[in-house]
Amino acid sequence: MHKDIATPIRTKEILSKYGFSFKKSLGQNFLIDPNILRNITEYAGLSEKTAAIEIGPGIGALTEHLARTSGKVVAFEIDQRLIPILDDTLSPYNNVKIINEDILEADVEAIINNEFVGFDDIMVVANLPYYVTTPIILKLLMEGLPIRGICVMLQKEVGDRISAQPGTKAYGSLSIAIQYYTKAEMVMTVPKTVFMPQPNVDSAVIRLTKREKPPVEVISEDFFFIITRSSFAQRRKTILNNLSSQLPQGKEKKDMILEALSAAGIEPTRRGETLSIQEFGRLSDALYPNFN
Ligand code: SAM
Repeated sequence: MHKDIATPIRTKEILSKYGFSFKKSLGQNFLIDPNILRNITEYAGLSEKTAAIEIGPGIGALTEHLARTSGKVVAFEIDQRLIPILDDTLSPYNNVKIINEDILEADVEAIINNEFVGFDDIMVVANLPYYVTTPIILKLLMEGLPIRGICVMLQKEVGDRISAQPGTKAYGSLSIAIQYYTKAEMVMTVPKTVFMPQPNVDSAVIRLTKREKPPVEVISEDFFFIITRSSFAQRRKTILNNLSSQLPQGKEKKDMILEALSAAGIEPTRRGETLSIQEFGRLSDALYPNFN
């Protein structure tokens, strides 16, 4: 077994060997604690039959743990300066491919088809760049990729919102969007001290396991997401007021909204944050004929 990259001493050695300076704008906070990395890979449930996708390998701290515990790793790194460093730090591992690309621009499905032939268990595992956490997770889920799930480090506050249940302050359209596709669990909170440099916010690891089918069947997914977003436009407003101010001609169609709420069994004075995904599904289907 090779010496871990993720120790303070080894990380400092690598950074100084290459004269690397962190770019805050790219969310570069590298992990320097091998125990945390072991925990992440355990929560991800990897084996040699698993192919892992990593976003932002940095200098390879997590990548080498993925290389040791899974069959193959493909890692997307946007920062060109890190590519020669990764060639060096990951040279002991022959099952890693680094792609110098912005994950938000990448054709991940094509890469899965080319790189993961013979693997039917695919997991996304990463310590995400915090400035783009939500767009990355939504992209990976909405593209309908053949993955088992996503196990990632992110800002604790975003993890709270993703895994929130109805009736809590953190519950909102992000909780619904992600829980529509996955079972979401916050599996670990992480102190700032395990990063170099230390971020300003608290961190957590979240595990998203893709559902076989959504928790509610709706006529139109697009319309369901429009309804959930509209319902949280102003958190202190009632569901009726949010929908009538957000939907096209909602003010004129207030009676129709009231009828739909009643058909879905939802009091018009309730707030969006009290509605379950199932209630949003019923409401979306009841509104659909009048707004499409
Ligand atoms: N995995 C490493 C670790 O845990 O030490 C580094 C994690 S660091 C929080 C985030 C990494 O994502 C950085 O290496 C950064 O350059 C990279 N990154 C930022 N934006 C990216 C994007 N849009 N696509 C791919 N990589 C990105």
